[in-house]
Amino acid sequence: MTVTDHVEADRDLEAFRRRVRAFLDEHAPQPAPRRDDGAGGPVGASPLAPAGEDAVARAQRFQALLFDAGLAGITWPVEYGGRGLSQAHQRVFNEEVAGREVPTGIYTIGHGMCGPTILEHGTEEQKQRYIRPMLRGEEIWCQLFSEPGAGSDVASLQSRAVRDGDEYVLSGQKVWTSGAHYCHYGIVIARTDPDQPKHRGISMFIVDMKAPGVTVRPLRQITGGSNFNEVFFDDVRIPADHLVGGLNEGWRASITMLMNERVAIGAGGAGRNRGTGGVTPYVRAARERGLDRDPVIRQGLAELYTRQQIQGYIGMRVREAVRTGRAPGPEGSVAKLFGAQLARFASDLGMRIAGTAGVAWEPGDQGAERWSMAVLSAPGSAIAGGTNEIQRNIIGERVLGLPKDPQVDRDVPFRDLKVGTQRSDG
Ligand SMILES: Cc1cc2nc3c(=O)[nH]c(=O)nc-3n(C[C@H](O)[C@H](O)[C@H](O)COP(=O)(O)OP(=O)(O)OC[C@H]3O[C@@H](n4cnc5c(N)ncnc54)[C@H](O)[C@@H]3O)c2cc1C
Repeated sequence: MTVTDHVEADRDLEAFRRRVRAFLDEHAPQPAPRRDDGAGGPVGASPLAPAGEDAVARAQRFQALLFDAGLAGITWPVEYGGRGLSQAHQRVFNEEVAGREVPTGIYTIGHGMCGPTILEHGTEEQKQRYIRPMLRGEEIWCQLFSEPGAGSDVASLQSRAVRDGDEYVLSGQKVWTSGAHYCHYGIVIARTDPDQPKHRGISMFIVDMKAPGVTVRPLRQITGGSNFNEVFFDDVRIPADHLVGGLNEGWRASITMLMNERVAIGAGGAGRNRGTGGVTPYVRAARERGLDRDPVIRQGLAELYTRQQIQGYIGMRVREAVRTGRAPGPEGSVAKLFGAQLARFASDLGMRIAGTAGVAWEPGDQGAERWSMAVLSAPGSAIAGGTNEIQRNIIGERVLGLPKDPQVDRDVPFRDLKVGTQRSDG
């Protein structure tokens, strides 16, 4: 059966569910607790199973199978390789994939953030060239926003791109770039006009991560893995038609990407099971340790289940808003904040159940290791994609109508600011 053959059949949601289940039974048969190193890395990234070439190759194989079965890009436009199906189909897929170990983590940034940004701000040529290989998993993407002096206030970035003939020349440094070491392309933002105030002189580009002048250096994480990196750009030449969203219009496109990031992380917008792996592994572990009659543990399990359900409903609401054409708004921040708090709650509960086995375990006992990994990666989810404080600021301003943070630098030309690592003479 080809992708087109599936179109008619998939109108029936229950038939679609059976098809998804059959695919997963064949290609992801092991219902398994989800592990993550908190940097959006491949499932299984941990000191015991480091993210390496094999994990990437396996993920690419799986994604190609998913695409060929007509199960990738479920809600994406058909003309660029998506299926053009409804959010209800996406929900069915998410329900079926929950609790299974699927190696789709390396696509969270591409499918959850870069793809939607190119679809909204990219040229027709960019959509035709990049979206299909992105969906099929042949080309993996990263996000190059954060810099040593620009994280929460990313508009303070200092990387620069200067026009030279038909190209831009990019120089500067990025940091915390998840997956840069295995990615083919990245979306980078850089300053193209330092005489404009900081939000106005920024442009967005597609950058080839294998281009001369790109250096990727891994950073070691608390989990023991090294899934994010420092990235240095030394006079990297970017073709002018790799500009996304217009010269000095990069901030608008960045907002699109950041909003999609909150949805991807908080609401599973990329179709990834980003939750805490369902309640079943916790119940199973409590039973194994004779704690399933403990009233405090039972209360914790009930609260975990309730919070997971609420996260699912928030996700449905956010995705429905996206489906009806509304750009993801502050509800993405609610989802992201709720998800980070849930990750912390779940990891604390896991440790209470695991006891000493969550602190020291026999080599190879991955059942015990997962509790420790959850604790070590939970703080990352309160930082990645905008910290909890930043999400609270957004909710305060845009939902509760509270006054904005004072921004005295908003109308000052960037070159006159003392921001980040920029010195007074900079
Ligand atoms: C696991 C992980 C993966 C990541 N992957 C990527 C990636 O792929 N690409 C990428 O570009 N970046 C990535 N990041 C970087 C991430 O976006 C930044 O770490 C984040 O935006 C915070 O920036 P910062 O670390 O510079 O902290 P800072 O901005 O320096 O913040 C320091 C502290 O100050 C608080 N703070 C700052 N401003 C305010 C304010 N206005 N009001 C209240 N409190 C405030 C913050 O909440 C925080 O507690 C990743 C981070 C993590 C943890």
